[in-house]
Amino acid sequence: MSHTATYDMQIKLLMIGDSGVGKTCLLLRYANDSFSPTFITTIGIDFKIKNIEIDDKRVKLQIWDTAGQERFRTITTSYFRGAQGIVLVYDVTDRRSFESIRNWISQIQQHADVHVNKILVGNKCDMLDEKVVSTEEGQKLASEFGMQFWETSAKNDVNVEQSFQSIAKSVKDRL
Ligand code: GDP
Ligand code: MG
Repeated sequence: MSHTATYDMQIKLLMIGDSGVGKTCLLLRYANDSFSPTFITTIGIDFKIKNIEIDDKRVKLQIWDTAGQERFRTITTSYFRGAQGIVLVYDVTDRRSFESIRNWISQIQQHADVHVNKILVGNKCDMLDEKVVSTEEGQKLASEFGMQFWETSAKNDVNVEQSFQSIAKSVKDRL
């Protein structure tokens, strides 16, 4: 048995959304099964690898995270290169981050492949008392752009696996 990675396909995903919405925490929850409560925007993760199965195919997911460049609400073109799927994240307790999603979509339209798959994720759904963006608003925006929609909590591990699995499946089904 060889120990080298064997897979049927490789998929490149990106995490996008305003600073502080929980992109890095979602990725760490998914790839490492851990949650870091401290603010970790500056760590500068490049990407994480996660090997999964979709419909009997072995898929190697390469998931890229920003190193905090999104603070300037713009991301360089090179970040988008080769991306096949994008996880668009807002914070359900932060309306501004939800309103930014349209801006992120227009940056995707400018810089990413026209066929790139997108998914919309409303994170921090554990913070019920502070929730200001309703589930219906999230759903409505997602359907306007033909995206699947999930409300997640990186903290409590709600819908994290499901979100990544569904964007990966959309990409796989398209390729
Ligand atoms: P990023 O800038 O989008 O990468 O956001 P981070 O992953 O660095 O998270 C920003 C802050 O939100 C940190 O203080 C996290 O602890 C917190 N956070 C992230 N996800 C959740 C979540 O699901 N629930 C709660 N309550 N806090 C979260
Ligand atoms: Mg981050």
